[in-house]
Amino acid sequence: MKLQSPFSQTRPAPGSGRAPFRSKMRVKGPEQVKPLQHRLKFSVGLSGGRQTLQFETQETIAGTRNSYDIQDGDLSGLTSFEFRNRFLPTEELEVFVSQDVLPWLRRLRLNLREFFIQFVPERPFGGGFLGRGVCTANRRALLVMEFTNWMPGHLALEVPDDVSTIVPHELMHIRDVLDGLSPAMYPAALPAQGAWIDLLRHLWIDGYLEQNGLPGMKKATRLAELEVGPYQNAEKPSSKQLENVVEEWWGNPMTLKQAIDLGLRLGFPLESNCPIADWYANAR
Ligand SMILES: [Zn+2]
Repeated sequence: MKLQSPFSQTRPAPGSGRAPFRSKMRVKGPEQVKPLQHRLKFSVGLSGGRQTLQFETQETIAGTRNSYDIQDGDLSGLTSFEFRNRFLPTEELEVFVSQDVLPWLRRLRLNLREFFIQFVPERPFGGGFLGRGVCTANRRALLVMEFTNWMPGHLALEVPDDVSTIVPHELMHIRDVLDGLSPAMYPAALPAQGAWIDLLRHLWIDGYLEQNGLPGMKKATRLAELEVGPYQNAEKPSSKQLENVVEEWWGNPMTLKQAIDLGLRLGFPLESNCPIADWYANAR
């Protein structure tokens, strides 16, 4: 089963080829810094306690601390320098950080205390996302970008348009936390535990991006994802019903609670005694 993480951009069908980076522009090179450990803490439910997302940053590009996920698996012996040589053309990475990510922080008006980027090779158990934006209650945020296929220079590029399509979307998940639409909750859920929530919240996020002339996933794509849905044990809503849901919510701010309300009305499964159900039981 392919896990679908909440708060993530799910992977579209492959085959569109590699999107171009705007390359060849010189930007200031990465600055090696002393590796620093960071811990982002999240509340999960009321009795679910806390989750900690731990990572190490190894270098700075354009003032942003970057992390290469080399802490476990086959990569654990690599230095950050070796990691970059193996996976990332230096110039592309610099352009990506300084031109594809940082301007979006301002454009989407993200007022953050700290911002990190983590580059993660695709792993079988972590599949199902291209990027992920997480943010703590005290405005420390992490943008995770996934490589595909562990291939040099393949930075989450199986998308039809540009990797820039992913970035604003993920930053919107961060903004949702800043704006109070979603509590800061580090994602860890199986489909029956509410991993479908983002299928609904994407209607708001991508609708907002589209309505503001910003890159994002198309309405038809999001509708198609809802058609597939998490309907293992539930009766599937009619296509008309799903179309109505998409029309109603496209670009309309949706809180986490509203997403769960809506999903339950559509018959999506939500296990009891999971962190999301625990949170929902006490949400107003
Ligand atoms: Zn998303």
